[in-house]
Amino acid sequence: MPGFFDTRIEFLKGVGPQKADLLNKELSIFTYGDLLQHYPFRYEDRSKFYKIRQLHSELENVQVIARIQKVELIGMGNKKRLVAHVADETGEMEMTWFKGIQWVQKKLPTGAVYIFLGKPALFGRKWSIAHPEMEPLTQSSEKRNSFQPVYSTTEKLRARFLDSKGISKIMEQLVQVSYTQIQESLPEEILAAYQLIGKREAVRQIHFPTEPALLQNARKRLKFEEFFFLQLRLLMMKVARIDKYRGQVLDNTQLLTDFYQNHIPFELTGAQKRVIREAYQDMKSGKQMNRLIQGDVGSGKTMVAFICTLIAISSGAQACLMAPTEILANQHYEGLKEYADLMGLKIALLTGSVKKSSRKIIHEELLSGELKILIGTHALLEDVVQFKNLGLAIVDEQHRFGVAQRAKLWAKNEEFYPHVLVMTATPIPRTLAMTLYGDLDVSVIDELPAGRKPIQTVHRYDKDRLKVFGFLKKEIEKGRQVYVVYPLIEESETLDLKNVMDGYESITRAFPEYPISIVYGSQKSQDKDFEMQRFVKGETKIMVATTVIEVGVNVPNASVMVIENAERFGLSQLHQLRGRVGRGAEQSYCILMSKYELSKDSRVRLETMVRTNDGFEIADVDLRLRGPGDLMGTQQSGITDLLIADLSKDAPILTLARDAAQQVLAEDSTLSLPKNQPILRQVKSQKKTAVNWSRIS
Ligand code: ADP
Ligand code: MG
Repeated sequence: MPGFFDTRIEFLKGVGPQKADLLNKELSIFTYGDLLQHYPFRYEDRSKFYKIRQLHSELENVQVIARIQKVELIGMGNKKRLVAHVADETGEMEMTWFKGIQWVQKKLPTGAVYIFLGKPALFGRKWSIAHPEMEPLTQSSEKRNSFQPVYSTTEKLRARFLDSKGISKIMEQLVQVSYTQIQESLPEEILAAYQLIGKREAVRQIHFPTEPALLQNARKRLKFEEFFFLQLRLLMMKVARIDKYRGQVLDNTQLLTDFYQNHIPFELTGAQKRVIREAYQDMKSGKQMNRLIQGDVGSGKTMVAFICTLIAISSGAQACLMAPTEILANQHYEGLKEYADLMGLKIALLTGSVKKSSRKIIHEELLSGELKILIGTHALLEDVVQFKNLGLAIVDEQHRFGVAQRAKLWAKNEEFYPHVLVMTATPIPRTLAMTLYGDLDVSVIDELPAGRKPIQTVHRYDKDRLKVFGFLKKEIEKGRQVYVVYPLIEESETLDLKNVMDGYESITRAFPEYPISIVYGSQKSQDKDFEMQRFVKGETKIMVATTVIEVGVNVPNASVMVIENAERFGLSQLHQLRGRVGRGAEQSYCILMSKYELSKDSRVRLETMVRTNDGFEIADVDLRLRGPGDLMGTQQSGITDLLIADLSKDAPILTLARDAAQQVLAEDSTLSLPKNQPILRQVKSQKKTAVNWSRIS
């Protein structure tokens, strides 16, 4: 049943069909509810007026009350401008227009007193404001609301008089007609406990604040509410899922014990052991596991995955591991095959380039149950791939997969959904994890295997290239291998290719004595694999590549990572790339090459890389620089839908809101208590519009 806030915006006084159409197209505002949530992005203090003598060059927009003394047209053609000479009791200045001259001219009678608003600039010895906003001075204008909302708008809307001021006008209308319709969405108890103001008041204050303290309260209230319902939704999904989906009981550890006693090549770290225990608890619980394993690059996630696989197989099930790229799937296959062979377990690789005849065998052996472990790319998701009994599905480097793709994995076992283990090497700040993966259980591998030497990272400018090459030579002479990585140029595959080809040529010229591999995005996958394999086997000494090698590739003998145009990479990507070295016993290096002039953000990114190897610290800086909308994986999660709250700045409110949501559900998981009715109503009204969250795993 459509409610008051579903009323189409064209029915609001002062809007009408044409403006409504523009608001739809330009700002996705369709209903009263949409418009009401078009919050101002800042406010202008209109209580303060400047005297002309007080103007100085540091000021942003100012208001000046002045009398028009003379208006004149200066210049010709393109350079024509309209100048109004104005004055107050302290001095004179100019208001200037370059466009819309005819229209403005009519509004400037000599002797009239106006409030002018704009940014003052000094020309010669006179202050001037170009294209000021202006309104006639009336008795009420000096004591109006101190804070004027500033709304985001677009060129097209401006042309239709829906500039910030125009939006503010229709907003005033809307707030007036809807004020009594706004219903409280949070229970009294929560309002009291967290000292939040009521919804109506908050909505009114956010648009038309009467004083700074009240605006503060309004922002806090609306941010809290936004986080609260986001977290509530996630937590409800988690509860629903756990209740709904039984899980196959996988509790046999025989193979694990055998592997542990006879074959494991190294002692597990404490963190690896803990995470394996956490997953084991889930797998034997009779509920479906949905667990995210976060572990920095090199923390040994693959071994954790393999051990979980052993638990599944001992218990009579099969397991699969899905990787985002063919290279990575290959590498996992090679690595795990070694262990699987030791254990006498049949393992296979399924990617797009596997031949039809081999595929057929794989399909058959999966169905018969003979094949225990299947490694692959999203080729695994095809409907023809059916298991006898898939017990555990592992997804590596999670952010590369879409939600829908992951959901497909679930459908591979009809009796029980498989247990799902998602592994990501992109450490993310806790607040973001809470939200992105709020409905998953999270394990963190927060320890690197012993004996790793921290990677040394330096920043060098392009002019130092010869020295850098000299260094590479020395390392290669010691028997090491080197990566040289070029940025992916997203706009153009051709440019991308040119970039890496130019690089390849200059490296070949600088190192004529060494065999060199090259890998890039548009290469045929056989060629890619061939080049990659040569590098893995140590036949080539240098790997020239675009970021296709970013994820997961493991060549322990490679000890130097050179990143060209490092200023063009994001932080988490730099960190991922760096993680390709430092995997062996030798000291490893990461050399960030950049041009000399850098933007402030680029500089912070490079400095952060040089300062720390800690993925979580890097993730924090990244979140601060970029905001959550840009971080990998967030686009599909609905996080970018946050209207007022900001994950990078409002972490404290998020924590409170999550606590509150947890408490509510702990006491009343179905939201059936009378006091929780406001919450239920809001949840129901959100359902219609919300993204389908139900299968993020
Ligand atoms: P990631 O977590 O980045 O996927 P990998 O699983 O590729 O890391 O492991 C990185 C390297 O560390 C591999 O060569 C792996 O064999 C090795 N490794 C994993 N766990 C341990 C451990 N406990 N002790 C020593 N080496 C380990
Ligand atoms: Mg990995």
